[in-house]
Amino acid sequence: MQEDIARILLTEAEIKQRVSELGARISQDYAGKDLVAVCILKGALHFMADLTRAIEIPLAIDFMAISSYGAGTKTSGEVRIIQDLDAAIAERHILIVEDIVDTGLTLKYLVDNLGSRRPASLKIVTLLDKPARRAVTISPDYNGFEIPDEFVVGYGLDYDEKYRNLPFIGILKPEIYQK
Ligand code: 5GP
Repeated sequence: MQEDIARILLTEAEIKQRVSELGARISQDYAGKDLVAVCILKGALHFMADLTRAIEIPLAIDFMAISSYGAGTKTSGEVRIIQDLDAAIAERHILIVEDIVDTGLTLKYLVDNLGSRRPASLKIVTLLDKPARRAVTISPDYNGFEIPDEFVVGYGLDYDEKYRNLPFIGILKPEIYQK
């Protein structure tokens, strides 16, 4: 699996350090509030597991699964909900936990969709931000790392459902997806 990686962009230790910083900030910002962390499956699974353990205030967790790239590396902009939240979010403080913001189309859809359910507040935390390819004006409230316009895998991020279990974030060799 590692032989398909051109370069490690973020090591396990760098991710751990940054996730704990994000957890500390979120703990401060949401102290005393009814917080629901909403994990966007599947890519944010690992980030969600580590981030929520770095948050030191009570919170609820929920999950939403949406369609992503399939086997390609470019988003279609068409977002489909595959699995919706278990619970209602009206009057609660919602934090969307996302793996990466690229064009921003997925997040825009999620913000519009969840925003229409009348939450007390709606914010976004993303592990990675690729601002070079943004197609809509949207920016995460909390961001782990700004990264260059490369296709990355690992720590939850996949190509064709593989590489999610790499403990680091790496740049996939282009010949893997150009095959
Ligand atoms: P957007 O709608 O912002 O273009 O795309 C967001 C989604 O596309 C992310 O949640 C993620 O699933 C996928 N994505 C965007 N860039 C990458 C990348 O570099 N690597 C992987 N594996 N997925 C990506």
